Amino acid sequence: MSDEKIPLAGVIGSPIAHSRSPALHTHWLRTYGVRGHYIPMDISYSDLAEAIRVLPKLGFVGVNVTIPHKEAVLELADLVTDRAALIGAANTLIFRKDGKIHADNTDGYGFIENLRQGVPDWNPKAGPAAVIGAGGAARAVIASLIEVGVTDLRLTNRTRARAEALRSEFGPKVTVYDWVQAGNMLEEAATVVNTTSLGMVGKPDFRIPLDGLSKQAVVTDLVYTPLRTHLLIVADDLGCRTVDGLGMLLHQAAPAFERWFGVRPEVTDSLRRAVLAK
Ligand code: NAP
Repeated sequence: MSDEKIPLAGVIGSPIAHSRSPALHTHWLRTYGVRGHYIPMDISYSDLAEAIRVLPKLGFVGVNVTIPHKEAVLELADLVTDRAALIGAANTLIFRKDGKIHADNTDGYGFIENLRQGVPDWNPKAGPAAVIGAGGAARAVIASLIEVGVTDLRLTNRTRARAEALRSEFGPKVTVYDWVQAGNMLEEAATVVNTTSLGMVGKPDFRIPLDGLSKQAVVTDLVYTPLRTHLLIVADDLGCRTVDGLGMLLHQAAPAFERWFGVRPEVTDSLRRAVLAK
């Protein structure tokens, strides 16, 4: 019998039962015949530091991090990638063989890869990008849009101060629009992104007027429950090209899977089906 250790990975957060990451990674483990397990772990803030110290000793090669620990893990990591530092949060930890904990944020990567897979000729330089929302996910979206070449990024948020704070961090490429002018911000926008939780099952409806949306726009929503949100339905009806938010979740997971298990996985229709069936 081999005494080779079976690598473990997982997701830490609280609550965690809703997470689709176990279905996602388990599908890849099976598809690629990789020996390994992916485990959801409900860990409270008070246990976070101890858990992260102990997990590598138990055979974990890394974990995904979700709400509410995405910011706190930065303090516990030995190495933080530039993009995680810029975003101010990590969604992936790698427990290295030398004992160091490496923190990364792949949300922005997942966001861009999803857009590119959904609209292969999407051009970030085609015109202004309009981003709705200024929470944690918006930070990753803004950082990645600027990284791929967006030079005119319009931003609106219900709480204007949060949008202003992001403008101060990301610089003059960002222009803040008042929440009541969110509809105007969409005029001539080439890329439109909802990063708020509006339109999600159990949350308030998406009420931003969409009359200004151009049919040339590529429109995407980070919300993926439901898959076809109000924003995407209206944009589809107008003739825009639309991309749902599920693909961002799938694509952000690929670099972590590769680092932990040594195989670069693909985002396929069968993966989407496995994750939707969860
Ligand atoms: P967050 O940090 O809590 O931010 C929430 C955002 O939604 C803020 O901009 C907030 O505005 C806005 N908002 C909430 N309720 C609102 C309301 N009633 N009216 C107007 N604005 C409202 O959350 P997050 O982590 O950024 O996540 C945001 C959404 O993205 C969630 O639905 C999450 O599931 C989704 N997400 C998806 C992926 C993916 O892979 N597809 C990844 C990450 C996140 P205020 O600042 O005014 O409160």
